[in-house]
Amino acid sequence: MSLKGDSLIPQFGPVWLQVGTLLDGGSDVPVRDGHLVYDGVRILHAGPALPSAAILRDGQTAPDAILPQHTVLPGLIESHAHLMLEGGVEDTARRSDYLKLEEADMLARATTRLQRLLAIGVIAVRDAGDKKGVGLALQKKFRSDDRPLMPYVDSPGAAIHHEKRYGGFMGRPMEEYPTIQTCVDGRIAEGAHRLKLIATGIIDFAKGTVTSKPQMPLGELTEFVMASRARGKQTFAHCSGNDGVSNCIGAGVDSIEHGFFVDDDQLARMRDADIAWVPTFAPVQFQLDQPGILGWDESVCANLQKILDAHAASLVKATELGVRIIAGSDAGSHGVPHGWGFLKELSLMEQAGLSPLQVIHAATGAPATRLEFAEDFGILRVGAKPRFIITEHNPLETVANLAKAKTVIFDGTVLMGPAGSREPGM
Ligand SMILES: [Zn+2]
Repeated sequence: MSLKGDSLIPQFGPVWLQVGTLLDGGSDVPVRDGHLVYDGVRILHAGPALPSAAILRDGQTAPDAILPQHTVLPGLIESHAHLMLEGGVEDTARRSDYLKLEEADMLARATTRLQRLLAIGVIAVRDAGDKKGVGLALQKKFRSDDRPLMPYVDSPGAAIHHEKRYGGFMGRPMEEYPTIQTCVDGRIAEGAHRLKLIATGIIDFAKGTVTSKPQMPLGELTEFVMASRARGKQTFAHCSGNDGVSNCIGAGVDSIEHGFFVDDDQLARMRDADIAWVPTFAPVQFQLDQPGILGWDESVCANLQKILDAHAASLVKATELGVRIIAGSDAGSHGVPHGWGFLKELSLMEQAGLSPLQVIHAATGAPATRLEFAEDFGILRVGAKPRFIITEHNPLETVANLAKAKTVIFDGTVLMGPAGSREPGM
């Protein structure tokens, strides 16, 4: 039996698939010859056992499709992206023009990408902040009655930074408010699903290190985390440089984003405090791959390589230690297109030394169980949303196979994913 789109649509009742390999997003061992039963709303059965007749259509005794060469895995969760931006725009002048677009224009452009993102296999996006309200608007759109075909989105709204410090393009300063508590309340009133904190500046690649002092000292970060937690919200922190990482760990943020220059002791503390790590290789790798665009010379390239090598070693160490690793590409950043940039990030994590299954977990079950999304997805389990990928290109050989043609099921809709590594407008 081959894969026919029609047979996958649950129009007359649940669909029963038998597949060669089933990756549920959490288990360390793939299920061989697995069974998956779903309808348009939820997964009814997933695992090695045959489904019970009670959940099948009346009289059904055989699967709707038997796919011995195919793998099924949860749809991918992009846990760090800036949906307002178009990362595939590489020209620096065009890039700054893009940043000058009106809110409505940015939102319109972001909206056109949503269905394409789904077809690439990205079924959920944790937006990482914008001051133009695009992430919040998309979050609202997803939760509306006339929701278009789009990935789940949640957003922190504008990231929070210090006046005159890094982050102005994606955030608003905390100085707008008299206290940290009122700042948190203000973001929540605007609709923030979680709080994005800009704890540090960025790496100075010419010097090969983070030269600026952390923006937010430990006390301030702690106050943000406590205020957010008291209001039932998670925090995620933009952070690079050893001192900044220490502050974020001490404050107990839910996840550290980027985390360049993290050391092994800090990784152990992150594991102990269950602080997740989103390493975001892609934007730095882009600078090394295309040094001409940013005018980098050999010495800067040597710095970039050194930083990436250390980051890769830390990722392997983190995995050995048991730090919760979550995949996010920083899509929207220079040279990191939405969707395709995320698949590239997964490949970079594999090249750093993770197994394909570890990378897949970082893009599915790990964020699903740590990031408190408003819906249940990312793990193939009974009751979860039916959002998954079917592919005949085995992702356990290499996650690069996820960039090949595939079928994406999203709440009963079937999308045929394009093969490739990029497309315009992302
Ligand atoms: Zn970011």
